[in-house]
Amino acid sequence: MVKIGVLGLQGAVREHVKALEAKNAEIIVIKRVEELEGLDGLVIPGGESTTMRRLIDKYGFMEPLKQFAQQKPVFGTCAGLILLAKNIEGQDHAHLAVMDVTAKRNAFGRQRESFEATLNVKGVADDFVGVFIRAPYIIEVGEDVEVLATFNDHIVAARQGRFLSCAFHPELTDDDRMHQYFVQMVEEFK
Ligand code: GLN
Repeated sequence: MVKIGVLGLQGAVREHVKALEAKNAEIIVIKRVEELEGLDGLVIPGGESTTMRRLIDKYGFMEPLKQFAQQKPVFGTCAGLILLAKNIEGQDHAHLAVMDVTAKRNAFGRQRESFEATLNVKGVADDFVGVFIRAPYIIEVGEDVEVLATFNDHIVAARQGRFLSCAFHPELTDDDRMHQYFVQMVEEFK
């Protein structure tokens, strides 16, 4: 059985735990750096990326998370996608900067603060309902990055080897197929 952590500093933590718990995996909420030890994979939830970054710095998570990401699978959703991205449009500095994508924050604009859309997510489902909340999207990907889903021609899910990210919140619906996909990634990687 694989052991997966959900970064528990801010955001939709419990929902991810619930979605993952139904799988054949042991799930731990990570609040301290030492708890990263022994994990096979990590989920960085949605929430607010600048707030999460502040807490990452405050609790000394920056280097340990970067190191973790050099070795193990990581799944970032929404703000988690922004934290993983190598580049953030309009900002000089990214956060963990481990996944070769450029993210645009709040990319769907004010008039579309939150909405749902049915997506075709490659390798996951062709009818996945994505919940978007002040969501980013990906405006550019490196050559090793596989685009898994688009919405209105914007990239909303991608994978690069052990990194998985999506702009929507798979933990906010009962559909756990994105989580299933990640658990499988973690199992294969282990
Ligand atoms: N807009 C948020 C940010 O920039 C992300 C929103 C979310 O995670 N639902 O961090």
